[in-house]
Amino acid sequence: TRKYLIAGNWKMNKTAADAEELIKSIVLELGDKNGVGVVVCPPFTSLESSAKVLSEVSNVQLGAQNMHAKPSGAYTGEISAAMLRQLYVSHVILGHSERREYFKETDEEINEKVLAALESNLKPILCVGEKLDEREAGNTLKVVETQLLGGLVNIPTEKAEQVVIAYEPVWAIGTGKTATPEMAQEVHGVIRVLLRDRFGKATGDKIRILYGGSMKPENADGLLAKPDIDGGLIGGASLDAKSFVKLVESAA
Ligand code: 13P
Repeated sequence: TRKYLIAGNWKMNKTAADAEELIKSIVLELGDKNGVGVVVCPPFTSLESSAKVLSEVSNVQLGAQNMHAKPSGAYTGEISAAMLRQLYVSHVILGHSERREYFKETDEEINEKVLAALESNLKPILCVGEKLDEREAGNTLKVVETQLLGGLVNIPTEKAEQVVIAYEPVWAIGTGKTATPEMAQEVHGVIRVLLRDRFGKATGDKIRILYGGSMKPENADGLLAKPDIDGGLIGGASLDAKSFVKLVESAA
């Protein structure tokens, strides 16, 4: 059985001072609940102060929202895996649809990042998901398969368990439109089959597949009840401590 994971993607929100306040509220609201994995992914500028707050608690982990694939060098404005590791970051979101759309990240680049993250013992949260026109054209499963397998090229089976997949239909992100539990499960079920094909049944069954896209306390129960939905990657609702903790409770 897979342990649920609830991850908050703060995106480009919260200054360092505001982030510190939010992280403290989350820790306070959460108390010492166990049994669910919790990850918060603030902007880079708040990782260090967040790590300090989180060093006092054991049940919340820290994630980054992106990184560069190269270990160091002349890549102005970029951040490496080693830089993240030193700030006690354990997870990194890779290939988010906003990175694909606005920063033109390709499956090849995302795959390089996934490999580099695993090399540094960071757990990649690999995001996949179709756009509205792709869904309407009946291409959802094809798009998801291409992004998934493209992101996982050359990942050795023994490291695959460290990977987390997030299925985020682009049309559901920040729009208030959620996939129904049935729509989400259909895609999660296909992702599960692809993971089993790629890494074998035992490993494929261990990899967590999160849902993301307007997930909130009101719709979480139905989604989390589905067999292949192992948690959530939360945007908007992760910026409110009470909502975020409610989501953690839904998974408990
Ligand atoms: P929302 O929860 O705001 O729709 O964002 C989802 C998301 O993109 C998480 O990575």
